[in-house]
This record gives sequence, structure tokens and C-alpha cells, in this order.
Amino acid sequence: MSEKQNFDLAVIGAGPGGYVAAIKAAQLGKKVALIEKNYLGGTCLNVGCIPSKALLSNAAILKKMKKAEEYGISVDKISFDYSKMSRRKDQVVEKIRKSLGGLIRSNKITIFMGTAKFESPKELKVLGEDNGWIHAEKIIIATGSHPIDIPAFPCDHKRILNSTSALELKELPKSIAIIGGGYIGCEFASLFAELGVKVTIIEALPAIVQAQGREISLALTSAFKKAAIEIRVGISVESIEERGSGLSVNLSGGEKIEVERALVAVGRGLSSEGLCLEKAGLKVGPKGAIEVNEKMETHVPGIYAIGDITAISMLAHVASHQGLVAAANAAGHEAVIDYHAIPSVIFTHPEIASVGLTAEMAEERGIDFTVGTFPFQALGKSIATIETEGFAQVLADRKTGEIIGAHVVGHDASSLIAEMSLAINNELTLDCIIDTIHAHPTVPEAWLEAALLANGTPIHFPPKKTGG
Ligand SMILES: Cc1cc2nc3c(=O)[nH]c(=O)nc-3n(C[C@H](O)[C@H](O)[C@H](O)COP(=O)(O)OP(=O)(O)OC[C@H]3O[C@@H](n4cnc5c(N)ncnc54)[C@H](O)[C@@H]3O)c2cc1C
Repeated sequence: MSEKQNFDLAVIGAGPGGYVAAIKAAQLGKKVALIEKNYLGGTCLNVGCIPSKALLSNAAILKKMKKAEEYGISVDKISFDYSKMSRRKDQVVEKIRKSLGGLIRSNKITIFMGTAKFESPKELKVLGEDNGWIHAEKIIIATGSHPIDIPAFPCDHKRILNSTSALELKELPKSIAIIGGGYIGCEFASLFAELGVKVTIIEALPAIVQAQGREISLALTSAFKKAAIEIRVGISVESIEERGSGLSVNLSGGEKIEVERALVAVGRGLSSEGLCLEKAGLKVGPKGAIEVNEKMETHVPGIYAIGDITAISMLAHVASHQGLVAAANAAGHEAVIDYHAIPSVIFTHPEIASVGLTAEMAEERGIDFTVGTFPFQALGKSIATIETEGFAQVLADRKTGEIIGAHVVGHDASSLIAEMSLAINNELTLDCIIDTIHAHPTVPEAWLEAALLANGTPIHFPPKKTGG
């Protein structure tokens, strides 16, 4: 083993949590080590957000081309080559990974490529491409998560896939059963269905994307049905058997579905195994989650945890924000995290984005609130671009006018949600949106219209009928 090296901070895991924390601490003048056992960029860059969105963007172009006739454009024959789509996805990932390596090094961070484990609360051993013995005053754990297997039908990555092996497909199957109707399952469903694969989603809960609230779940269910995606809810998969070159998916209740491939998207396991946390005096929760306070501190002084491993909100941008907070605290600058305005996006077709409370959550909390829901069918820009599916919805406290939630289904929802994230994070009211001049004709005008509706003063929408 090499000589012990001293650092102010060591970060374990170079996903969107870990590398952001490392850069922030380096900016604050700290000597930082970043340890990664696989690829810089973690799940998000290599097997999550970026490759999935690269593929989904191919599907979006195809969808637009199929609608070309509506724009007066004739396209004789549309065809695609999935292996080329997959290659472009790989190139996107490689390009970002390469520039990320440069960015990290430009901040004078020492990268160790290897697996880290604790020797004591301030000492790590690294084994792999780089072997090292690290002493660090502060340590941030950012080891993320991984796909989980179901013991009754573990992934073989040939017929039964998980999200990582599904992203590696070079050829599309004719049919696929997607087990799990959360956001990852639904994004794959949207991708495959657009590319002509017969998709069946099997979800044990009563609805797909249930966490997003009833209205969003209904909107996506209806859009998926139009896209010929079969949705089976309230039912679970008991076993999967090989049948010829395909699979028989056996459901509770005795029904069988014959498909070529299955994709298991039932959640993520937390990556704390092998870290030897006990040597640091750290205990984890039953599923491997590391508990932290609002400063991202664990119960062991000097050790922080961020990102998926905390199981607080398994999203890349939350991991990064937690990374900024942990790094600031580790560098001696007080910072706390506030989770009340976390945007979440589902990159299906139509896109879905939410921030703040759903109507159900507001009801549960006993908040007296008003809602404005503006359909894109009534918006000039949406009509002009033939993107009229969906709506923008604002929820506000009736007494104070403070915006407490916003939800959007439809074209470019992923970009639209930024305005409402800013509004909710800064406790803005309906008046703040109404008094902001929105450029015309643009899709964000839907927020202005939704705020006017919630305020009871709609302009481009008929007033609510009064009695008589
Ligand atoms: C298919 C898919 C699509 C997704 N899409 C989105 C999306 O659109 N938007 C979004 O916000 N989120 C998305 N996510 C979730 C997102 O990828 C995660 O929330 C995010 O990557 C978590 O970041 P992290 O830094 O906590 O962990 P990770 O990104 O998982 O990174 C952890 C890193 O730690 C390394 N590591 C683990 N143990 C050790 C060790 N002992 N020593 C050294 N290194 C170690 C791992 O190799 C890994 O690189 C998606 C996930 C998947 C699977």
C-alpha cells in the first residue's frame, strides 16, 4: 500500500452529488480527494438521466416527423436505425464524461479511480486502478444507488433487463413488459412505444406515477392509452418463465402475458455495502439509507452524506444541491437545505413536471387553497405549434395568495417548471406572476393564465359560471 495522503476533504462517489460537492469544497480553498469506482458522473451521466434523455430525444423527433403532414410537410417514408440511436447516446455520454474529468481536474481535485472503504472515521483505503490510503479531516459519502433485482425473477440482462441493461440494447424487441409504473418505467414505456414496441406496464399500486398526484396520473394514463401502451394496475408479477425466444410473465390472479423482453423498474437499492461504515462508527437504516440533518451531517462528527444514499429524494439535482450544502459545512461555512421547492420532471410524451404540493397534499395539510388550470388548447403559441396536449396548473393559498404547488403536463414541461420553482422557492404570490409581463406568444404565458384563473380573474378563459 502507498504512503498515507492527507486531504481536508474526501468525497466517496463522483455522481452529481459527489463531484459537485468536491468542486464546491475546492472553490472554498480545501484540498480535496474524489474517489470513484466506476465512471465519473455516476448513475446520472452514465446509466440514468443523460443516456435516457438522449434516447428520448430521438423518439421526440420521430413523433414530430410522424405529424409532419399536419404542418403541410410531406415525408415519403420515415425510418430509423436503433443501433445508430444507441451509438449517438453513447457518444453523448462519452463527451460529457470527458469534459467532466477536465472540469474536476481544473479545480485541482485529486481523483482516485477505485473503491473506497473506511478504516476509521477519518481514514479511507482505496483499491482499484488507483490504490491509496487517505486521511481526511472531513468525509462526504455520495455512493448513490443501483437497480434492484426481484429474487423470483432476477435480471439476466438478456431477456429480463433492468434500467442499465435496457439502455444498452442495440436492437429493439417487438414487445416488452415493464414491471413498475414509476417515472423510470414510464419514461422507458414512452421511449419504446414511440419506436413501435408493444409495451405493457404492470404496476402493483392503483395508478402509474401515483406519487405525482391523481390529476397527473390520470393525464399520463390517458396519453399512454392513446399511444397504445397497455397499463395494468393493482396487479403484481409473480414469476417470469422463458417461453421459446421470449417470456411468459405470470401475474397474480393467474393471467399470463407473452412478451419478448421484460424490464424491471421497481426502485433502487442504496449503495452502502462494502464501505465498512462500522469502522467509521456509522449506522445505516434498514434499507441502507444514511440518516442526515439539514446540514447533511451524519451522527458521526465530520462525516456527511448526500444524494440517493440518504434516500431523501432520489433526483440528480437534489443530490447536487445537498452536495453544495455538505461542502459548505465541511469547509466551515454554515448552510442548510430546504426541500419545499424541488422540481421533478418525467420525460415521457407528454412531459410532466411538478413542484411543491399536489392538491391531495394540500388537502391533507388542511390548507384552504385555490386552483387555476389552464389548458394548452387555449394558448396561442401552443395552437400555432400544434402542441395543445395538456395543461398548466397553479395552486395557491386562498388567504395569502402564496403559490404552494404547480404542475404541468405537455410540451416542454421540463423547462416550464423553472418559473414556478423560482416562485415557490421565494414564496411568491399569484400577484407576482400576474404582475410579471410574459412575452407573447410563448408557452410560459400558460402560468400567467393559470395564475389569473386561480385568482378568479381569467382573461383568455371564460369566467366561472355564477348561479341564476
Ligand atoms: C434510468 C434512470 C433515469 C434517471 N433520470 C433522472 C432524471 O431525468 N432526473 C433526475 O434528477 N434523476 C434521474 N435519475 C436519478 C439520478 O440518476 C440519481 O438520483 C442521481 O444519479 C443520484 O446521484 P448520487 O450522486 O447520489 O449518486 P450516483 O449518481 O449513483 O453516483 C454514486 C457514485 O458513487 C460510486 N461509488 C459507490 N460506492 C463507491 C465506493 N465504495 N467507492 C467509490 N465509488 C463508489 C458509484 O460508482 C457512482 O458513480 C435517473 C436514474 C435512472 C436509473
